Amino acid sequence: MSHDPNCIFCKIVAGQIPSKKAFEDAELLVFHDINPWAPVHVLIIPKVHITTLYDVGPEHDALLGRMLALAPKLMRELGVVNGFRTLINTGDDGRQEVPHLHMHVMGGPRPWSKG
Ligand code: 5GP
Ligand code: ZN
Repeated sequence: MSHDPNCIFCKIVAGQIPSKKAFEDAELLVFHDINPWAPVHVLIIPKVHITTLYDVGPEHDALLGRMLALAPKLMRELGVVNGFRTLINTGDDGRQEVPHLHMHVMGGPRPWSKG
């Protein structure tokens, strides 16, 4: 399934739920987390619906590489020059709340509210 009509992040991709976007291309969307842990907290997501990291296959290798490579580029653009954290929560024990693959990227001066 490339789009799940019940998925919050698919709705954000489709523009049905508003978001503060930081980057967009044909494959990826980046938007600011609604409940940020850090001065800068964005979520990098594939536009296609992939539920969790368990669901990726070899066809997603390039997509995953692009998600990771985008993080430092975006952080620099957003003024984060002293380090950042990247985090992917997977499944119940990984405390994944939104079942659409996403990578948290958090940075900016300490202290942070979490993390
Ligand atoms: P998870 O626990 O699944 O890794 O993280 C999901 C993240 O999505 C949380 O940090 C939460 O604040 C964020 N989030 C959930 N719903 C929305 C939304 O509608 N808009 C935005 N911008 N962020 C959301
Ligand atoms: Zn989705």
